[in-house]
Amino acid sequence: SSSSSFHLKCETFEEKETQDEATSMRPMACLHNINPKLLQQLVYDALVWSSLHGLVVGDRSVQKRSGTVPGVGMVHAPFALLPMSFPRSHWQQACELAPLFNELVDRVSLDGKFLQDSLSRTKKVDAFTHRLLDIHSKMLGINKKEEIRLGLHRSDYMLDAQTKLLLQIELNTISSSFPGLSCLVSELHRYLLDHNGKHLGFDPKRVPGNDAVSQYAEALAKAWNEYNNSRAFVMIVVQAEELNMYDQHWLCTTLKERYDVTTIRRTLAEIDAEGELLPDGTLLVGGQEIAVIYFRAGYTPNDYPSESEWRARLLVEQSSAIKCPSISYHLTGTKKIQQELAKPNVLERFLENKDDISKLRKCFAGLWSLDDSSVVKNAIESPELFVLKPQREGGGNNIYGDNVREILLKLEQEGREELAAYILMQRIFPTASSAFLVRDGIYHQENAISELGIYSAYLRNKEKVIMNDQCGYLVRTKVSSSNEGGIAAGYAVLDSIYLN
Ligand code: ADP
Ligand code: MG
Ligand code: MG
Repeated sequence: SSSSSFHLKCETFEEKETQDEATSMRPMACLHNINPKLLQQLVYDALVWSSLHGLVVGDRSVQKRSGTVPGVGMVHAPFALLPMSFPRSHWQQACELAPLFNELVDRVSLDGKFLQDSLSRTKKVDAFTHRLLDIHSKMLGINKKEEIRLGLHRSDYMLDAQTKLLLQIELNTISSSFPGLSCLVSELHRYLLDHNGKHLGFDPKRVPGNDAVSQYAEALAKAWNEYNNSRAFVMIVVQAEELNMYDQHWLCTTLKERYDVTTIRRTLAEIDAEGELLPDGTLLVGGQEIAVIYFRAGYTPNDYPSESEWRARLLVEQSSAIKCPSISYHLTGTKKIQQELAKPNVLERFLENKDDISKLRKCFAGLWSLDDSSVVKNAIESPELFVLKPQREGGGNNIYGDNVREILLKLEQEGREELAAYILMQRIFPTASSAFLVRDGIYHQENAISELGIYSAYLRNKEKVIMNDQCGYLVRTKVSSSNEGGIAAGYAVLDSIYLN
C-alpha cells in the first residue's frame, strides 16, 4: 500500500509539471512513504559518494587541526538527499539576471560619491563600515583607478510563495562561498537519480549542470592573464582556520590543473608581515609578485582583530594587483547599497536599457531605510513581516520576529542616529516542503525551505568586457522554522534543483 500511495503522489506531481505551475515542490514530497530500506540505501550511497568525491568540510569536533591541515578531520558537507523542485521559468529568470547585476555592480562601483553619500550615515554608527569607507576615500583621494576589474558574485533569491515572485535576498560581491562544493552536490543528486531511477522515476538531466568551479577558475585565469606576468601568483586571502577549505581548494586546484596558475594562501596578518609595495604599485608577498587577490576572508569585523589586518587591506588596495573584490566592489555589495538601489529612479542613474532596469526591479523585495518612520511603525506593529539587517556578511547577523520590535523600540529611544546601521527588508516566505537533510551521516526528515544563489563572473580591462556570465548555482535548504540560512554558520544544508 505504501508503494501505491507513492505512485499516486507522484502522478499528482507529474500533473503539476505539465501545467508548469510555479510551485516549489521537491521530488522528495513524493517520497513520504518511501520504502525505509531504499531510503537507507540512498543515504548510504550519498555518504560514500561524498567521501569519494571531495564533498567534504573540516570537522572540528574530531580534530583540532581540521581547519588548518588538509586531509585531517573531515566530514561530508551537510546536504539534502534529493534536489528541490524549482520552476524552470524562475530558474531562467535568475540566470538572465546575472549579467545585468554584474554590469550594475561595475557601474555603481565607479561612482565613488554615490557609495560615500549612501553610506555616510551608516558610517557614523558602524565602525566596520567606517573603516572600509576610509580605505575607499583614500583611494578616491589619490585618484586610484582599477582598470582591470574582476567580480565573482553570487546573487541569492527566494521564491515568494504567495506572489510566486523570484525575489532577491542579497547580492554578494565578496567571498561568495561554495562554488566548489555546490557543483558536487548537483553531481551527487544526478548520480542518485541516475542509479535509483527505476525506484524514483525522476530524470537526472533535469538537475541543471553546475560549472561554478570551472567558470570561477576561468575568470581568475583570465584576470591573471590580463595582468600579464607569467611568474605572478594568485593570492587567496583566507581566515587562519577554515573548515570550508576544501571548497576553496577545489577552485585553486582547478586553476592549477587547467591553467597552470599557482595560488598562495595568506591571512591578512601574514600579508601585513610579508607584503611589500614597490613604487610602481607591484605587490610582493614573501618576495613573490601577486597578479590577482581573491578574498575568502575580510568580509567580517572578526577578520580584522588588530590594526595589522587593516594595514594589509589598505596595502593590497593601493597595489596594482587585481582585487576580487576591490574596495568599491565590496561596498557595492553592502545591504545599504542594495536598499538605495531599490529606491525609485536610482537604477536609472546607472543603466540605460529600460528592459534591463525593469527585469532587475522585478526581483527587488521591499527594502527601506529606517528614516522612513511609517515603515518603522509598521515593523514595530508587525515584526514578523520584516527582517532587520545590519551591514554584515556571513550569516547569523539579521534580526527577526519579536526581536525586530524590541531593537527598533530601543534604537528609537537611544536616538535616531543608531537606526542608520540597519535596513529593513520585507520578509520573504517560500513554500515549505518535506526534505531529508543529511548531517554527520544522519538524516532528518524536515519541512524545509530553500534559497537559490546564482554565481556570476565579470571581468573587464578598461573598455573591453572580457567575461560577463552566469556561472552555476548554489541551493541552500533549511528547516522552515529557522530564520538564517548559512551553511558554515550551521543553519542550512547544500542542495540542488530539479527543474519542472
Ligand atoms: P548574509 O550576508 O549574512 O548572508 P543575508 O541577507 O543573506 O545575509 O541573510 C542571511 C539569511 O537570512 C539568508 O540566507 C536567508 O535565509 C535569511 N533572509 C535574509 N533576508 C531575508 C528575507 N527578506 N526574507 C526571508 N529570509 C531572509
Ligand atoms: Mg546571504
Ligand atoms: Mg551576504
